[in-house]
Amino acid sequence: MSKHNSNPGPDIWVLCDFDGTASVKDVQNMLLDHFLGKSWRLQVEAVLARGEKSTTYMPMLYKDWLASKEEMIQVIDENAALDPCFPRFVEYCREQGYHLEIVSDGLDIYIEHLLAKHKLDDIPFTSNRLVFEDGKCRIDSPFQSESCGLCGNCKKQRVLAAREAQAHCLVYIGDGISDECPAGLSDITFAKGGLLAYCREHNLEAVQFRDFSDLLAAFPETLDSWLLSTDWLRG
Ligand SMILES: [Mg+2]
Ligand SMILES: [Zn+2]
Repeated sequence: MSKHNSNPGPDIWVLCDFDGTASVKDVQNMLLDHFLGKSWRLQVEAVLARGEKSTTYMPMLYKDWLASKEEMIQVIDENAALDPCFPRFVEYCREQGYHLEIVSDGLDIYIEHLLAKHKLDDIPFTSNRLVFEDGKCRIDSPFQSESCGLCGNCKKQRVLAAREAQAHCLVYIGDGISDECPAGLSDITFAKGGLLAYCREHNLEAVQFRDFSDLLAAFPETLDSWLLSTDWLRG
């Protein structure tokens, strides 16, 4: 298993979505359901139908919520969890010397909290931020990108960062709308849910996965055959 460690190994970057990918369910959707009721979905659908994305609907949804941080953490603890095999995947990436990052168009509050619960809080991540002020909270999106303009956190930027860092192979793992921007630019894409449908519709190659147990099983072989196709493992 140390093949990719041998020196000098290829520089592998793994970018992973959080909601519904590293976490079992979409934590952001759960919080919106809890604090706003189900009707927010109609607002989001109307925005998506116009070809716009989260930079438009997030400020509409996260406006003057009367929720404290403590209250929100309690709801997260009661209703959200990491994929049980995600910590094992993190360990695998560490053993192999791969660079793993979480890229999320969700919120820092639950990503930090759920990672810390599993002592995984040293994994770098980018996301939107919830700001708590005077008993209210609002959203802040420090990672918007001018070239996209549609995503609160445009994940394409971390793909470009990987390219700038001369990553040999960029692996993307995701399941939803915010994963569409980076998926078409990755070397290998693991997809499920809406992202898998998007990849099929747009003729983008994607490896289907269900959760991190089958992703862990498929990952080494998928990566090896990609490396082989680029001549890395030959000679
Ligand atoms: Mg997701
Ligand atoms: Zn984008």
